[in-house]
This record gives sequence, structure tokens and C-alpha cells, in this order.
Amino acid sequence: MPHDTRKVAVVTGGSRGIGRAVVERFLSDGYDVGYCYRSRPADADAVERLAAEHGGRVFDASVDVTDAHAVRGFLERTQERLGEIDALVTSAGIVHDGPLVTMGQDAWNSVIDTNLTGTYNVCRAAVFTLMKQGRGSIVTVSSVAGVRGSATQANYAASKAGIIGFTKSLSKEVARFGIRANVVAPGLIATDMTDGMTAKARDGVIATIPLRRIGTAWEVADTVAFLASDRAAYITGQVIRVDGGISN
Ligand code: NDP
Repeated sequence: MPHDTRKVAVVTGGSRGIGRAVVERFLSDGYDVGYCYRSRPADADAVERLAAEHGGRVFDASVDVTDAHAVRGFLERTQERLGEIDALVTSAGIVHDGPLVTMGQDAWNSVIDTNLTGTYNVCRAAVFTLMKQGRGSIVTVSSVAGVRGSATQANYAASKAGIIGFTKSLSKEVARFGIRANVVAPGLIATDMTDGMTAKARDGVIATIPLRRIGTAWEVADTVAFLASDRAAYITGQVIRVDGGISN
């Protein structure tokens, strides 16, 4: 496919886990992809090889999503190199768990800054350009914790519930410009973020999941790719849970 007819996706937190699966899924679907992270992954060349296999281009950069200036520069450089943005996915996120009774200001601020303000920074930097283009699909990554709360995750759940309110509001503002905005809310997904769980804790959660297993990053990426695509042309302002039924 010639480059000027390829679609372009931007993914934050694209180096690992869910964001990485989203990057790979977009490349496999024929997109050119810009992605960012804090630390460049050791296997970034594997992403470049995958892009080359699909005749695509990839642009990656170290950009902290809490830094609005850096985010703006990243989006500008991505558009210079790859062209207009069709899909924008905000997957960068962190946890800093603990009960509220001992939760320090740093645990609160870092999680809100990265997950919620980071999502604002990325969408804020892109939205006017998307409005001028008259097209674009935004997919933000929340969590079932943001839908129903989660003990020891008041900071995380607040950030993820905030993402839902933010995205629903944004969807109403930009629909008339041909832009859609949806949320994916994963349940327990096998990534570095959940690797630290003890076997006991993991088994305890699995017992509460109707499908009786942890999800994969690919399963989340499939839903993100669907929402970003024209197959979801009449879907906006929605929260799609990819959670094995745990939040039913
Ligand atoms: P990982 O820890 O595997 O990956 C997190 C990604 O976000 C990495 O690429 C990381 O880059 C990037 N990142 C973190 N902070 C920043 C920052 N300040 N600026 C730029 N990039 C940053 O997480 P997951 O893949 O598991 O999670 C992805 C998203 O999905 C998160 O928003 C998470 O909250 C959400 N989620 C995950 C669930 C799960 O069970 N795994 C469940 C529900 C939601 P670097 O390596 O450089 O730090």
C-alpha cells in the first residue's frame, strides 16, 4: 500500500503490554504507527521489523505523557513523519496501590498525573488537528477498576473513572467534526503490570472471573483496533469492557 493511502495510528505506552499489542495490531492491519514510552524498549527493532514486513513505517520516541510540551512535540513530529492521525490510543498508565489509610500524596499524584492528566495532555494536543481534519477515532484505556472501584486502588480507580467521564464528554464535543471517542475498560490482563501478583492473589481473582482466566493484551488490542476502525463508525461515547465478565 503506498504511504499516502495508509492510515496512521498513535499509541501512548506502546512499548510494553497492552499498548505494545495495540502497536503490533495496527501494524498488522496496515497502519503506520507512532508510539511513545518513557524508556525505549530493548526490542524496539522487532517493532521496526514488523512494520517493514507490512510495508509500514514506525516512529517511536521517549515522551513522558505528564509533560504536555513533550506530548505536543511528539504529536507534531509523528504527523511530520507519518501524516495525519486517524487513530489515537492512550494506553500509558501506572499503578501505585495501597489502602487509602496509608496512601501518600506521591502515590495519589503520580497515578492521577500519568493516567488522567496524561490522557488529557495527549487528547488536548491532538484534538484541534483532528477537528480540522474532520476525522479521527480516539480510544482511551480505562479499567474495570474505574467502572466499579477496587480496594487498595482508590487513586487508580479515580484516574480510570476520570478517563471515562473525560472520554464521554469529549465524544459529545467532537462528534459533529467526524471524530469518535470510546473507552476500553480491561479486566485482569497478563502484562508486566499484573506480573507482580502472588499466585494466591491471582488464583483468587481468577475464581471471580466468569470466563475463569486472565485476558491477553491481544484481546484488548482487538477491541481497540475495532473501535478505531470504520467498522465501529456508529459507535461513540461507549465503554467497552474486555474483562471476561468480571464486572457484570
Ligand atoms: P504495562 O506496565 O505493561 O505498560 C505500561 C506502558 O505505559 C509502558 O509502555 C510504559 O512505558 C508506559 N508508560 C507508563 N508511564 C508513562 C508515562 N508517564 N509516559 C509515557 N509512557 C508511560 O501496563 P499494561 O499494558 O498492563 O497497561 C496498559 C494500560 O492498560 C494502562 O493504562 C493500564 O492502567 C490499563 N489496564 C491494564 C490492566 C491489566 O490488567 N494489565 C487492566 C486494566 C487496565 P515505560 O516502559 O517506558 O514505563
